[in-house]
Amino acid sequence: MTTHTKMIEPSAAEDVTRILGKPGSKIFGGGTDLVPNRTWGLDTSPTWVQLRRVPEASLISSDGEGRWSIGAALTLQAVLEHPQLCASYPLLADAIRVVATYEIRNQATIGGNLCLDTRCRFRNQPPIWRSGLDPCFKSGGTRCYAAPRSSQCVAIFSSDTAPAFIALGAQLKVQSQNNPRWIEALDLYTGDGDHHLALETGEWIETIRLPSSPPLGVFDKWRIREGIDFPEANLAITVVPRENSREVRMVVGAMGSGPIRLRTSERLLAEGVWDDDKLFLAAHMVTGSIHPYDNGQMGVVGRKRAAEHLLYRALEKLRTMMGEKGEEA
Ligand SMILES: Cc1cc2nc3c(=O)[nH]c(=O)nc-3n(C[C@H](O)[C@H](O)[C@H](O)COP(=O)(O)OP(=O)(O)OC[C@H]3O[C@@H](n4cnc5c(N)ncnc54)[C@H](O)[C@@H]3O)c2cc1C
Ligand code: SF4
Repeated sequence: MTTHTKMIEPSAAEDVTRILGKPGSKIFGGGTDLVPNRTWGLDTSPTWVQLRRVPEASLISSDGEGRWSIGAALTLQAVLEHPQLCASYPLLADAIRVVATYEIRNQATIGGNLCLDTRCRFRNQPPIWRSGLDPCFKSGGTRCYAAPRSSQCVAIFSSDTAPAFIALGAQLKVQSQNNPRWIEALDLYTGDGDHHLALETGEWIETIRLPSSPPLGVFDKWRIREGIDFPEANLAITVVPRENSREVRMVVGAMGSGPIRLRTSERLLAEGVWDDDKLFLAAHMVTGSIHPYDNGQMGVVGRKRAAEHLLYRALEKLRTMMGEKGEEA
């Protein structure tokens, strides 16, 4: 942190909203993304706001209807160490367990993971490296090195918990001066790598609420070095059996500037037997829904293949969990 950054720790949600209303102020969760960005001159916000003294943002609780709420300021490790929550939502625990390292999970917050900045190999570099390039969209310029024909930034959103929360049907409480509201987790993401969160100045995430009946689900992730790296691809799939059909949610991450729901594959899997051909087709269809660029660690083809492979593997696992045999009875 430079000497110009002020750290403020309010104890009321209204004060957080008021301070964030001033231009350039940002929430400081655990700082595991903000601090590296500050070190490389990618974050210049004059004020950082801590949430840990705000009660609503620092609790895990369950309401009368059995819905769990997770305060955004809780660390990933604190959530992982909550036995009832993790027993009810093993998919979420699987996603948290593979974020970075134990040390980072002990510091990083759940809100910071959902609001993690987008990344790109043309920008997340030391200043000396970047000084050889004119600014791109995300640095205030008028071009993109990863996608020269694109009119917007395509930096990668790499959160591991975002696909999990979306597949689980979580809702987020957005605190705001004018309009505090609940939104679906998917609606937090705009798909634009430069302004990737649908939050106005002064708005922030206070709580994440999970549905009372946890669906069956699987989370999986592909990364280059196990035990530390960001995902090159990740996914979460949930299924709720209905009388003659199923409600399926399939979400892939790290393929663009926000998580992507695979609605065509979801429709295919909603009815009929999950035989091998159907699972293969549902997994293959992902290649039509994702358009990664050459700005991650792995190339475009590798990332697409990783997503397809992860999907097939996750669907096979889910079929077993559902007790289905993959053939007509
Ligand atoms: C070596 C390394 C490996 C990593 N590997 C992974 C990985 O595998 N998977 C992964 O998902 N991440 C990974 N990360 C990124 C990061 O550590 C995590 O995403 C972490 O959860 C971020 O949380 P934080 O609280 O530290 O965020 P911070 O750095 O505090 O904040 C991140 C951003 O979110 C905003 N923010 C924080 N809380 C809120 C809120 N409540 N409302 C609105 N905005 C908010 C901040 O203003 C900031 O812009 C890695 C980081 C490092 C350094
Ligand atoms: S995707 Fe393009 S605009 Fe965005 S950070 Fe990378 S090079 Fe810059």
